[in-house]
Order: sequence, then C-alpha cells, then structure tokens
Amino acid sequence: MSVFQFELCELPPEAAALRGEVRAFLEAEIAGAAWDPQGDFCSHFSEDFSKRVGANGWIGLTWPTQYGGHQRSMLERYVVTEEMLVAGAPVTAHWIADRQSGPLLLRFGSEAQRQRYLPGITRGETYFAIGMSEPDAGSDLASVRTRADKVAGGWKLNGRKVWTTYAHRCHYAITLARSAPATAGLPNARHDGLTQFILDLHAPGLTINPIINLPGQHEFNEMVLDDVFIADEDVVGTPGGGWAQVTSELAFERSGPERFLSSFRVLSTLVDAARGSTDARLLGTIGRFTAHLATLRQMSLSVAAMLSRGAMPNLEAALIKDLGNACEREIPEAARLLVSALPQPNLLLDALIEEAVLYAPSWTLRGGTREILRGIIARGLGLR
Ligand SMILES: Cc1cc2nc3c(=O)[nH]c(=O)nc-3n(C[C@H](O)[C@H](O)[C@H](O)COP(=O)(O)OP(=O)(O)OC[C@H]3O[C@@H](n4cnc5c(N)ncnc54)[C@H](O)[C@@H]3O)c2cc1C
Repeated sequence: MSVFQFELCELPPEAAALRGEVRAFLEAEIAGAAWDPQGDFCSHFSEDFSKRVGANGWIGLTWPTQYGGHQRSMLERYVVTEEMLVAGAPVTAHWIADRQSGPLLLRFGSEAQRQRYLPGITRGETYFAIGMSEPDAGSDLASVRTRADKVAGGWKLNGRKVWTTYAHRCHYAITLARSAPATAGLPNARHDGLTQFILDLHAPGLTINPIINLPGQHEFNEMVLDDVFIADEDVVGTPGGGWAQVTSELAFERSGPERFLSSFRVLSTLVDAARGSTDARLLGTIGRFTAHLATLRQMSLSVAAMLSRGAMPNLEAALIKDLGNACEREIPEAARLLVSALPQPNLLLDALIEEAVLYAPSWTLRGGTREILRGIIARGLGLR
C-alpha cells in the first residue's frame, strides 16, 4: 500500500489562532442573521459575503502578496475552508477562483494574467467558473469537442459546455477547447492539442442557458459558444498543453474537506438531537461516522501539506474524494432511518435531511465520478 502517501500532519500553532478569528467572524455573521447556513458549498452565492471574506484576507490566503495574497500556508487555508463549510457559510461566489482558478493562473498563467485577475479574486470581487464538461465529454475530458480556431490576435471558440456551475453569476470561466487535432500515432495522442482559455462570461457570441437542479435551484448552466473571440493574452499556458494543466487542477479540486463535509450539518444536528438517548443503534451510527470523518480529515490534511510542498498528489486526492463522497452520501440516509429513535422530534434535522437527500446524488458526480476515481486508484495500484 505504499503507493499512497499519507503522512500524519499537525496543524501549526498559527492555524489555531486563525481558526479562532474565522469562527468569531462566522458566529457574528450568524448572530446578525447575515445569511442562513446551507449544507452544500455550491448552493449559496453571495457577493456581499465573499467581499467580507476577502476584506478579512481569507481568499488567496497562500498566494504571493504582490497579487493580493497573504503568503500563508496551505494548512492555514485548510482551517479557513473547514470553518466555512462547518458553519454552512455562503462561499459559492469565490470558491472556485480561490480553490483552483487562481492556483492554476499562479502556476501556468502569464505575469499579465496574474496581475489582472488575482487581486480581484482575493478581494472577493472576481468570480470564476469551470468550463470543462460537455454533453458528450464529462468523464472523458480528452474528447471535448469545443473547437478553438486561430484567428488574427486570438482564437474563435465554437461549441457547447454543460454543468457550468454559476456561469450566470461569475465573471470568467477557464474553458477547455480543442485547438489542434490530436497527434495521430503517439501514445497520449488524445491529450495533445487541448488548450485552456480565460473566457469572459459576457463575451459576444456566448449564450448561457439555465439548467435547474433536483432541489429546483438554478446552479448550473449550458454555455453555447458561437464564434466567441478570445485574445491570445487570455490563453492559459502553452496552446496545446492544456491537458497537463487540467489534470494538475484536480488535486486541488478533489482532496479538500468539501468532499466529505457536505452533510456535516446533518450529522452535527443528529448529535445534538441524540443527547440523552441510550439507543445503541443511534449512538453506534454516530460513532461510526465520527470515526470516518476524523480519518478523512487526517488524510485531507496530509494532502494539503503535500500541496503546500508543491507536490501533485492526484492519487491520494482521488482516494479521499471516493471515500469522502461515500461517507457524506451515507450520512443523510442513515440519519433518516434514525429519526424515529430520537428522544424528541427535531424539525431542523428533518429539514437538513430533506435538503441533503436532494443534493446528495450530485456529490459523487461533480469533480469526477466514483467509477473514474476508482479507475485512477486502480492504476495507482498497478492494476490497469
Ligand atoms: C453539481 C455538479 C456541478 C458540476 N459543476 C461543473 C462545472 O462547474 N464545470 C464543469 O466543467 N463540470 C461540472 N460538473 C460536471 C461533472 O464534472 C461531470 O458530471 C462528471 O465529470 C461526469 O461526467 P458526465 O456527467 O458527462 O457523465 P459520463 O462521463 O457520461 O458518465 C456517465 C456514467 O458512466 C460512468 N463512466 C464514464 N466513463 C467510465 C469509465 N471509463 N469507466 C467506468 N465508468 C465510466 C460514470 O462514472 C457515470 O456513472 C458538475 C457536475 C455536478 C453534478
């Protein structure tokens, strides 16, 4: 099993101090009824909240100060993320930019792109979406059909993207397109010729159509690109080298606590509601999930430590997402079956379970399905 590197990781003392600050901020927000806590990190888009978080210096926490960042550690960032999720804070607006678009631009973007986009992200004012998936290219991203054709000064993009979370309220989407045919005959031919672009979500030729999700919310969209012009300066990295860049985003996307805390509020409310109970099934189930979450947290912290050393632990991230999604999906179902064992009815718990049941099917899809993650794990074990 040594293919998986999970070293035990202690949070540094400065992380504890930061946790206290973030917690106090969130408690004050909740006490002032600034927002209603939500279970899912993708379900509550609030520009005002993101600006307040930015003003506190908690977006782009690890980035260099010259781009508005704060040069703090990934472990400190972990603590901010964890506190926000546990509180059910409305983090959606800045989430993607903070988690992956900003780090992508830091790693592969040009100096001009960093200066142009990163400060607005850290202030909580500039929001990014992800333009990867297409109607026939979700799991198999290399088969994207959105085409980028070279024209004077830039590229013309044509195609269709789906699932683009909050494209209707974000400013930009890092969009993957085929800019050259796959090179025939080479082992990774399908991965060649893909390019990432910074797509302005108000660009002429772009239409954003709503797709309503199971809970009835407008969270994601279809984007139709009809001769959308993107200037050369908005190509991320090297034209044709997009595959390596996309895959490097995935360790950021897959290993964070949002991959196992989506139903945390269901569990914590179940714990409150179970106080005074001696029901062995109820208490045993709570103990089991608590043990799972404590273990997942250690694994996820360990990946955060690896990311801060510049490593790309894609395999470990896949493992965390698969186990984490399994756990977060199981919690509402288990809680639903235990409601009758509670000492008293609990309306908050009922509402949280109802919300979680509607969101849960998406947890194992977004960021890579379980089958895809298990394929990556199998490859890591040398089985494929
Ligand atoms: C809530 C939510 C938000 C999302 N947000 C975004 C976003 O902002 N931007 C974006 O670009 N995308 C986004 N996605 C898309 C997401 O990444 C895709 O849904 C996911 O990658 C799966 O692709 P697909 O839906 O095309 O399914 P498919 O790839 O068609 O898969 C269908 C089924 O077949 C299985 N399957 C596919 N290939 C294999 C294989 N090789 N081996 C075994 N089984 C396989 C899959 O596991 C799945 O069960 C979002 C999805 C959700 C649910």
